[in-house]
Amino acid sequence: MQTNFTPAQLADPHVAESEAILRKCVHCGFCTATCPTYVTLGNELDSPRGRIYLIKDMLENGRPADAEVTTHIDRCLSCLACATTCPSGVDYMHLIDHARVHIENTYKRPLMDRLTRNVLAAVLPYPGRFRMALHLASLARPLKGALKRIPALKPFAAMLDLAPRTVPAPSAFAKPGRHEPQAERRGRVAILTGCAQPVLDPGINEATIRLLTRLGVEVIVPQGEVCCGSLVHHMGREEQALAAARANVGVWMREIEAGGLDAIIITASGCGTTIKDYGHMLRLDPAYAEKAARVSALAKDITEYLASLDLPSHMPRGIAVAYHSACSMQHGQKITMAPKLLLKAAGFTVRDPAEGHLCCGSAGTYNIMQSEISAELKARKVRNLEATRADVIATGNIGCITQIATATGIPILHTVELLDWAYGGDMPAKLKGLEPAAG
Ligand code: SF4
Ligand code: SF4
Repeated sequence: MQTNFTPAQLADPHVAESEAILRKCVHCGFCTATCPTYVTLGNELDSPRGRIYLIKDMLENGRPADAEVTTHIDRCLSCLACATTCPSGVDYMHLIDHARVHIENTYKRPLMDRLTRNVLAAVLPYPGRFRMALHLASLARPLKGALKRIPALKPFAAMLDLAPRTVPAPSAFAKPGRHEPQAERRGRVAILTGCAQPVLDPGINEATIRLLTRLGVEVIVPQGEVCCGSLVHHMGREEQALAAARANVGVWMREIEAGGLDAIIITASGCGTTIKDYGHMLRLDPAYAEKAARVSALAKDITEYLASLDLPSHMPRGIAVAYHSACSMQHGQKITMAPKLLLKAAGFTVRDPAEGHLCCGSAGTYNIMQSEISAELKARKVRNLEATRADVIATGNIGCITQIATATGIPILHTVELLDWAYGGDMPAKLKGLEPAAG
């Protein structure tokens, strides 16, 4: 794509990067077919190619964002299916990241939109506040119907829809400390405890730590970890996201320097995509660029790390698992085979749902901010998952677990919970009474 930025515009490294990305796009439109919002809404401006044009026009003309551009960029899930499909290697992720920051810096959103975003940014990244908000949500549940009838309050109704009926107790595993290997030592890793996940489903990190230590890996839960910054990063709140990235880089560098780390283990693929991008996010910060690149190189999804441990194969156990590949896993991190191969080796029968490339509609805070498109994508995803007639659904991202669980009776677990069970742990509570489905 031809661009016409001035030398003065290109002196800004963010603009220069976006220009290089835009130039790669040959507007072939291949990406439209796999874009969930284009597939759902059928509007070119809600396709990757349409958004690329809108971003180009806005940046090239040095214009502040307006309501129209903001609407179409907000509807983007940042699922990155377009980046997987694109034959020209267009780096859509960094282009849309730049556009979101530009919107945040130049566009004044309507009052309720600002308020909702401020609430989300002030609550979700902090486990203590998030836990309290979930308790409040159970009291506010009777208001859900009334909130849904007022358009500006729909995001709050969506929050109530997603909030679990009971909030699990905090896990002792989330506390900073060291978990000793229970077998011959094979490595030393740090684990990101995360922000929303340990509140919504503390069993995921518990299963991870149990499995790793049983396999001979020392697991450190470092003091001072914060949310990875992904939630605010996708809202264009760059300073808040960079502050989170710097804090985590500092924490993990201390561990690297103290005892060495073989990996930084991440159990939510949404966080993994962002942490693997810390090197890029902090590339212009001389105090952090090198350290952030080192941290990004060490970041591993739990399934990536387990794949390196060469686990033994088990006999089939007669349980069919539909594997839902989170967008941040398959498109963001390009991890497609490791989770399925691990499940197969552990004795599960793995089934691939149709349209596996399409997002389930969770996408960070998307299911709160864009609840109608999100609901359509969720229904489509659940139809495809249920059509596999599997006993269990497995995935690697808490956002997808929360989203899909609201619409199906099939138990949905994190992949690592099934692997922990297969390699010596207890049967996950969600599977108690499981009767494997026929066929
Ligand atoms: S597939 Fe790639 S090159 Fe083609 S329109 Fe989409 S982003 Fe541009
Ligand atoms: S990131 Fe996903 S929703 Fe956004 S343009 Fe690409 S395919 Fe469409």
